[in-house]
Amino acid sequence: MRRVKIVATIGPSTESEEGIEQAILSGMNVARLNFSHGDHSQHLAVIKNIEKMSDKLSLPVAILQDLQGPKIRVGKFSEGFIELQKSEIVEISPDFKLGEKGKIPTDFDKMPDSCKPDQKILLDDGLLELKVLKVVKNAIHAEVVHGGILKDRKGINLPGANLPVDCLTHKDVEDLNFGLEQNVDYVALSFVRSASDIIHLKDIIQQKNKSTKVIAKIEMAEAIDNLEEIVKVSDAIMVARGDLAVEVGQTVLPQLQKAIIRLANQYSKPVITATQMLDSMVNNPRPTRAEITDVANAVLDGSDALMLSAESASGKYPFICIQTMNDIILEVEKNDSNYYKMDLPDQFDSQSQAIAASACITAQRLNARYIICLSTTGKTATQIASFRPKANVIAVTRHQFGLNRMQLVWGVRVLYINSYSSSDEAMAQVKEILSNEDQLTKGDKLVFTLGLPVAEKAKTNSLRVYEY
Ligand code: PGA
Ligand code: MN
Repeated sequence: MRRVKIVATIGPSTESEEGIEQAILSGMNVARLNFSHGDHSQHLAVIKNIEKMSDKLSLPVAILQDLQGPKIRVGKFSEGFIELQKSEIVEISPDFKLGEKGKIPTDFDKMPDSCKPDQKILLDDGLLELKVLKVVKNAIHAEVVHGGILKDRKGINLPGANLPVDCLTHKDVEDLNFGLEQNVDYVALSFVRSASDIIHLKDIIQQKNKSTKVIAKIEMAEAIDNLEEIVKVSDAIMVARGDLAVEVGQTVLPQLQKAIIRLANQYSKPVITATQMLDSMVNNPRPTRAEITDVANAVLDGSDALMLSAESASGKYPFICIQTMNDIILEVEKNDSNYYKMDLPDQFDSQSQAIAASACITAQRLNARYIICLSTTGKTATQIASFRPKANVIAVTRHQFGLNRMQLVWGVRVLYINSYSSSDEAMAQVKEILSNEDQLTKGDKLVFTLGLPVAEKAKTNSLRVYEY
């Protein structure tokens, strides 16, 4: 079983029933719906397709709704694009209705107020660069530093500018309401700057009585400054390398990726490494050597999951791409030295963390085949997974609790069992399922974590070891 999970963005290349089926069979664990594109009826159709195919194949898929956040964009041009020449002076204004040579419209009303002379303006993921000269009335005058073709609706980044925008825009709130109604497993928030952005989103989710989990996309310099606080309050983290590279400068990206992952691991928060992992496969059936190595290194850095964007959404080879990622991950995971990364804290932050760590030490020293977490909300299993055990982690839950969200967590498989009134009854069910699957051999050791007494649905407080 592959431990590192695969998040695939769904789009024209994968959104049909057949496409979703192929994506699941190729190894997709989490389907990402990008709310920067498409309307609710399109997203609804995709959600239905995912649910139908996941049922048909009996393979769980988590659904991740990615909110656009305060992404700033250029408007449209009369010819669909303009060309920017080095040293040319251009104007940018929210007042321009349709752009033309030298005039760039923007959808961000307050952009002129947010720009001071010398502010860097990056366009199209940083491919084009401008420098602000002055702001006259409601138009920014800027000089082209790196020119090229600028197409309709490309993104704008203003690195370091303290933008007067809410993290959750009006569109995001509407999209969120839709996602919560559809019971998505995760909501990812773009351009998070502080812990309060996450807390605000969690408050809304709680008011609606939903248990949807929140992912903080780390893609701004301010988020790096507030990283530890953000990690503490989030349910999961995304290293959103696309915007992050533009916002903080591309050369610091590799070290930031490692630092963000390390912190997320330390707090047992699932972490996704995202963007351009197999970018050349948008057009080619084979990845570059650098991409193969990037995927492998993201696994070695400690990612719980790796993400595909355009590769699976609009690329020519979405399924080969998922399989390629699958194969690279499996190869890295053959190496035993990657397991049991137990950098134990001096003080455990909870009883369940103490049990989780003890379960891993026990499993390692006894060379156990499984660590099985009973009566779970997924919390103990997630903490166990953060120690990257070689033993297979299984989260066991009663049928009525959906735990699709565990599809994002390193190494965790979910088993659904019938109601039980004693731990022995639950363990017997688990052993029966595994032995029916031929996944148990005489002498195999199983480490169980559970909450006793079972009848009181107690929180995890106990550890037991079984030999099959
Ligand atoms: P995006 O986020 O694809 O929604 O921009 C990921 C990133 O910025 O890397
Ligand atoms: Mn982004």
